[in-house]
Amino acid sequence: MRFSDEQRRIMADCQIKARGITNPRLLAAFERVPREAFVPDALSEYALDDMPLPIGDGQTISQPYIVALMIDAADLRPSARVLEIGTGSGYAAAVLAQLAREVFTVERLEALAASARQRLAELGYGNVTVMAGDGSIGLPGLAPFDAILVAARAEKVPAALPEQLAIGGHLIIPVGSEEVQSLLRISRTGADHWEEHDLGAVRFVPLIGKEGLAEGGSRMD
Ligand code: SAM
Repeated sequence: MRFSDEQRRIMADCQIKARGITNPRLLAAFERVPREAFVPDALSEYALDDMPLPIGDGQTISQPYIVALMIDAADLRPSARVLEIGTGSGYAAAVLAQLAREVFTVERLEALAASARQRLAELGYGNVTVMAGDGSIGLPGLAPFDAILVAARAEKVPAALPEQLAIGGHLIIPVGSEEVQSLLRISRTGADHWEEHDLGAVRFVPLIGKEGLAEGGSRMD
């Protein structure tokens, strides 16, 4: 199933703009990316619905509004280099690709990384690099980043990530327990200064890895 530009415009208006995100570049990016190409065929008729959807391997493609909230908070310039942790379907990476110069996205599940890589290449998103691996440690060799978006829940902010921000950059990350999570924006305001803002309650799958949780969702120590 394919949706029209007009149907995506209505989706962006009703789900994103109506909730207060009015950045025209961001809304235009959501209007361009065909979300149905990022969900399993059997669910494509629901692709523009206001909710997360399963993408296999127990993972989800996030609700469009939550993707928009995270990207809006990252305050991207066209010259930005962005790190996304938790590629999933590749949908958020495709939206980011319209708004930033370069997008690096890391997914711990090899099968999801491979299918997202192929999908993004077929759709022509040439400025996205998909990597399989543990994103909880960031990508130290490619830092600093103007924005780091984490699409999975940590119980505390992985220590490596604020360090991998450029000065003026923002880390957007859901932090908390399975039941109670807040979306945080951590902004690097100087070489040794960071400021934290709470953007509100969210619900994400766990960030599993060295600086995240153990398989099954408990803390790694
Ligand atoms: N951004 C995705 C999209 O647009 O479809 C949705 C991401 S989904 C909510 C979270 C993803 O984070 C899952 O695919 C999960 O496998 C991945 N993940 C969890 N822990 C990770 C880690 N340490 N490194 C990289 N990816 C991780």
